Parts: sequence; structure tokens; C-alpha cells
Amino acid sequence: MLERPPVCWKGLQLNDSNLLGAGSFIDGSFSRSRSSDVDLIVTNPANGGIVRRVVDISDHDVKRAATSAETAFQLWRLSSLKNRSAFLRRWHTLVMENREDLAHLITLENGKPLSEARVEVDYAASFIDWNVLAATQGRGSLAVQHEEDLYASTTHQPIGVCLVITPWNFPAAMIVRKVAPALAAGCAVVAKPSDLTPLTALALAELASRAGAPRGLFNVLATTRAGPVSDLVLQQRCIRMLSFTGSTRVGKLLAAKAGQRLLKTSLELGGHAPFIVYDDADVEAAVDGLMKNKFRVAGQTCIAANRVFVQRGPIYHDFCTQLTERMASLVMGNGLENGAQIGPLISEAAVERVTAHVDDAVARGATLVLGGTSKTKSSSSSELEASDDTDEGEEKASLFFPPTLLLGVTDDMLLAKEETFGPVVGVLMFTEEREVIRRANDNTEGGLASYVYTSDAGRALRASKDLSFGMVGVNETNVSNCATPFGGMKESGLGREGGVHSLEAFTEVKYALMRF
Ligand code: NAD
Repeated sequence: MLERPPVCWKGLQLNDSNLLGAGSFIDGSFSRSRSSDVDLIVTNPANGGIVRRVVDISDHDVKRAATSAETAFQLWRLSSLKNRSAFLRRWHTLVMENREDLAHLITLENGKPLSEARVEVDYAASFIDWNVLAATQGRGSLAVQHEEDLYASTTHQPIGVCLVITPWNFPAAMIVRKVAPALAAGCAVVAKPSDLTPLTALALAELASRAGAPRGLFNVLATTRAGPVSDLVLQQRCIRMLSFTGSTRVGKLLAAKAGQRLLKTSLELGGHAPFIVYDDADVEAAVDGLMKNKFRVAGQTCIAANRVFVQRGPIYHDFCTQLTERMASLVMGNGLENGAQIGPLISEAAVERVTAHVDDAVARGATLVLGGTSKTKSSSSSELEASDDTDEGEEKASLFFPPTLLLGVTDDMLLAKEETFGPVVGVLMFTEEREVIRRANDNTEGGLASYVYTSDAGRALRASKDLSFGMVGVNETNVSNCATPFGGMKESGLGREGGVHSLEAFTEVKYALMRF
């Protein structure tokens, strides 16, 4: 790929934007130490242009980050709840003051439309806001025991220094959903964001520092060496917890390593969400819910519907007709362009995976209604093409994948068995209730989000009881917010994030029995 001059984002109000190009954020500042010539090159997936070059972290700096976090933790764990909540309030204010610039940065490194990036910043900030309140409320109890003069106290103590590893699809929200409750609980953090989108995390750490975070409380490691760097952090004695969001494959690898030290582990992993439309559903609402759920980040979200089950009968035709109309109107383009609704996929590997799913479905007999790959397109009537209104045409187009609709998908197709992570909707038909619940549960080891559209409360209750998924949206797809438990069953993870669940994750219960 040809290198291009760095793109300057528009006036990120971080005074010296060059700082973000220096390197990792360690011990309260950007590290400029360089142990090799390697740079982490952050590119814009919309056009391949270089956004920033960041110095790849050295092993020496990895150890420095852990040491600095441990020092910060020993002070922060003793800080008053008032202090912690005041810091979080200031951090929240700075994030919101820099909303536009953070959103711009997210779009540059991730490719999602700017409107979506703004929503992500708001969503991320809501976790700081929620934890402002949480941090003011110490939790615990003191109880008189069965014997006179005997008292039992339970308190929730911060677990220590946490290694936080996050993916690229929500460069701000995935970091903040972990870091805000960790700091509220009294922990310190060493964060390793995805090498594809480290800049937003670096900016958030800089803002936390400006908000008064003590040196070392929130470190960010920028590196292309995800495996070795994470291994090195996990070996540092001060690390007490691993909080990971990403693929099930990497989650299993890391859990095994964390297990060697019996570290507390929280895992938010891949999904393969079923979206069930019963024959009594409000079709318009179901199509609307699917559109809102499926096309965020060009379909690259863990809670995106990946198998759309529609009941046999008139509703099948109505649903598919309305869905085709809505999908055909989606606008694909560079996220910085007005009106763009679908940005590029994150990488060539992502395009290859999505292509394989679509080609496999077509080869096995699915009907391509919209979109498709170069191989399948010849039989398609799609009018959606990659936008090529820049001089970078060929490279830019390479990561764009058009919204694609396939009907007649069956359980044996890749699309129905694995997380696709792209703007592809596969519609499957079902006949009756028990059948669809069985198929939704059995065709995957994933168990993150699921959705049900019906006007029958009994059906909704049965589905939410019987679906083996950590989250069930009934006539609603926006299941994630700062106060509710987010997480999956089976191979979609361990633990929950959001609300009190995050705070609990970053604490340990201490019990003391006292005789006076
Ligand atoms: P990924 O597992 O490839 O990477 C996630 C993070 O792990 C990145 O920071 C990466 O650099 C790091 N990593 C990669 N290999 C590593 C290794 N060997 N050792 C240590 N760290 C390593 O996932 P991704 O492609 O960034 O994200 C997409 C996946 O994340 C999808 O499966 C998606 O469903 C999942 N996800 C889950 C949630 C959730 O809340 N459950 C949210 C967002 C994304």
C-alpha cells in the first residue's frame, strides 16, 4: 500500500495533537522511547491513507506501565469516594467537550459514519456518568452475629491493577465501559486497545489525565505485538485481573494464560445473534429494529443480528419486501461524507470473511436479492456500488462491502453457523415456535444477544426464558446501555459489564469477623 502524508483531523482540541503520534501513554504522559524502528501505522479504512504513525511500545515501557499502575493503585485505592467521583465528573465533562473531535478520530481510524461515531462518544460518556454516581456509594455491611460482641463486616475492595484489552469496532466505548468502573472501584488500568484503532484510547487517556487522573492510573499501550505485549503484562506480579473484549478465539487463548496465575477474568466475546419474527409481529417495527441493529459499523458489532428467522406465511413476504426497500436505500461511503450510512469494513481479512460467507450461501442455493461479491454480483440486480469519489478509487473500494440480502438461507450455510461481521442479512424460514428456538440455540456456541418480534406476551416470555443468550430484546434491538448487564452465555463470555455488574467485577468482597 502506498504511503500518504498523515491526515490531520480537524483541530482535535487536545492542544498538541502531535502527542498522539508519539507513542503509548505511560505514567501520565506520552512515551517517546524507541527500542526499534517499528511504528504502528494507523490507517483510514475508507481510503488507506495514513492517519498517524505511533511508536510501537518497547518491553521496557510495558514493564514501566505496570509499575506505574501499581504505584498509582496504592494511592488511588485509599482515595475518598468523593475524590473519585469528582475526577470522573471532570473526565466526563472533557469527553463531552471534545465530542466532535473524538468522533472525528473514531471515524478516521475505524471508518464508521461520523453520526455513528458521535453516538458512540455519547454512549462511552454515559458509562463515566453512571460511575460518577456509583463511585459515591460505598458498598458493604456490618452485621451483629449470633453471639454477643461478635460483628461481621463485608466491604468491596478494588481488585488491583487490571489489564484491559479491547477491539477496534467501538474504539471509545469498549475502553470506557471497562476503565470507568475500574477507576470508580479504585483500581488502576493498563489498557491495550486494538492496533487498528489505538488513537481514540490514547486521546481518552490524555483527557483523563487532564481531568486529574494521577500518573499511572490509566496507561494505554500502543502496539502491533498484541500477543507478546499482553503476555508480558500478564506476567507482571501487580496484575490482578484481565478484562477482555474481542473474539472468542483470542478470549480463550488469554483466559488460559490468565488461568496460569488464577487472575480474575472477565470476557466479552463474539456473538451470532438470532432475530426471530413471529407471524403476529408488527412487520414495520421488526424491519426498523433490524435496520438499526444490523448496519451499525457496517454490520461489525457483536450484537448484530446474524440469522434472521421469519415465520412461514404472509409475514415472510411482507417482511422481505419491506426489508429489501429499506436496504436498497442505504448509502455507502466514507464516514466523513454527509449522508454516508455504511462505511468500509476494517480490513482485507474482514472483506475476505464476509465474501466467503456470501459466496458459500449462494453456492448452497440461497437467493441473492441485493449486494453481493464480485463473484455473485453478476446474477444480482443490485444498484449499490462502492463510492469512488476520490482519487484513491481502487484502494478505497477494496474495503467497502455493499449491504447484501440473501433469502432462502439454511442452517448448513456458513452465514447461519458463524459470526459474519459484515453488512449481510441472511433470512431463514421457520414453521413453529419450538423449532425456531431449538435452531437459534443449537446452531451456535455463541450466546450473546438475541431478538424476538411478536405481539404475543406469552411467546415473548417463553422465548426470553428458552433462548440460551445473555441478552434478549423483545420488540427492541437497542439492548445495551450503561445501567444494564451486557454479556453472553456459552462461548460468548464470562461475566457482565454495565451497571453494578462492572463495579462488582473490579472488586473483591472482604469479610472481617470482629469481637469487641
Ligand atoms: P480480536 O480478538 O482479534 O482482538 C481483540 C483485541 O485482542 C485487540 O486488542 C487485539 O489486538 C488483541 N489480540 C489479538 N490477538 C491477541 C493475542 N494473541 N494476545 C493478546 N491480545 C490479542 O477481535 P477484534 O477483531 O478486534 O474484534 C472483533 C471481535 O470482538 C468479534 O468477535 C466481536 O463479536 C467481538 N466483540 C465482542 C464484544 C462484546 O461486548 N461481547 C464487543 C465488541 C466486539
